[in-house]
Amino acid sequence: MRIGRKKKRPKVIGLPDFWDVLSRHETKLLALDYDGTLAPFCVQRMQAYPYPGVPRILEGISRRRDTVLAIVSGRPLAEVLILAGPFDGIVIGSHGMEKRLATGDIVIKTAEQGQIQGLACAQSAAEEIGLRELIELKPASVALHTRGLDPKEAERFEDRAARLWRAFSDRHGLEVRRFNGGVEVRATGWNKGDALEELCRGMPAGSAYVYLGDDDTDEDAFRTIRTRGYGIRVGDAGRPTAARGFLPDIPAVRDFLEAWANLAIPALKEKILWIRDG
Ligand SMILES: [Mg+2]
Repeated sequence: MRIGRKKKRPKVIGLPDFWDVLSRHETKLLALDYDGTLAPFCVQRMQAYPYPGVPRILEGISRRRDTVLAIVSGRPLAEVLILAGPFDGIVIGSHGMEKRLATGDIVIKTAEQGQIQGLACAQSAAEEIGLRELIELKPASVALHTRGLDPKEAERFEDRAARLWRAFSDRHGLEVRRFNGGVEVRATGWNKGDALEELCRGMPAGSAYVYLGDDDTDEDAFRTIRTRGYGIRVGDAGRPTAARGFLPDIPAVRDFLEAWANLAIPALKEKILWIRDG
């Protein structure tokens, strides 16, 4: 099936031969961050729907026999499933703790008891200093969201929360990380790099591995595939990153996905299916 009109393939900055190399791989993994990559940021977090045209293109890619398609997000799995709409690929939420596999099965891991206690402390500590309205408790993290606030005020709140959480994060097996639109304290041992590693291990040998993301939390994934695949960062090409390529913005991601959907399909006998439960 062809998705849209055939257009010139979009340039991936820093990877001039990307499409030629990709076409030579019979099997491919395409893993995608959600917020800031497939969907524009939105102050109302549950209004952050995919960019126009993206769901239809993802549907086309998910039917390709040569491609395993996955969304990898820090959001809880349930939120991604609601926002991304009908989506047949793999969905990974909470930085790898929650997965909906290609088979439709849902696999949920839980943080350790000490980490869960630490997260409860982090939540109440942030509430005690008046940040209750900005706090979100997730399965393996507590996030402080500052999108929509005055930038100076946002920075002040993020600094306060980060300082507060760093004081006890180590002894609870937690770490404090910034993200686009806030800061969070989360269980260590769960990041997008680990989630991507698991996806790569489920692929046939010789596959192409591609990951798109826009944020600092995506750097773990870029590092994971730096030597064997293609990390592509969405946004300003001047930023320090472990990604090897850049796309300037979400419309460019849409064009990238459309080009992927229209690639010639290699003569595989059957669709590859990621089935391994890590
Ligand atoms: Mg993002």
